[in-house]
Amino acid sequence: MYDENNIFAKILRKEIPCNIVYEDDTSLFFYDINPLFKIHVLGIPKIACKDYSDFIEKSDPSLRSQFFENIKIVLDKLDISKSGFRLVSNSGTDGGQEVPHFHVHILGGEKISAIK
Ligand code: AMP
Repeated sequence: MYDENNIFAKILRKEIPCNIVYEDDTSLFFYDINPLFKIHVLGIPKIACKDYSDFIEKSDPSLRSQFFENIKIVLDKLDISKSGFRLVSNSGTDGGQEVPHFHVHILGGEKISAIK
């Protein structure tokens, strides 16, 4: 079940402020409050979905494609399309997800070591 009181739900309802990078009708992209890299942006769709599987089950194809197209808009705004970046989504307990609203982390601005 989706927790309406999770932090990102509150951000979407404008109950908590955030530093917006990009927003449209479908999704919101904002700076992580505790950045792990020089650039650390979070992207969330504007539907109640707790993780990746929930997002796929509850979204229609146009929302899904718009969300991923918006990631490209954000990459260009951040000017990291060419220099490179890491796109991460932690999902569920084993994935280490802390905030139960589906989100992607856009990481960059510096060299990130390989996952091994
Ligand atoms: P995850 O572990 O994938 O669920 O990541 C949750 C992320 O949300 C962490 O990187 C937190 O630093 C970030 N975070 C938590 N609260 C806020 C907030 N109010 N504004 C921006 N980022 C936040």
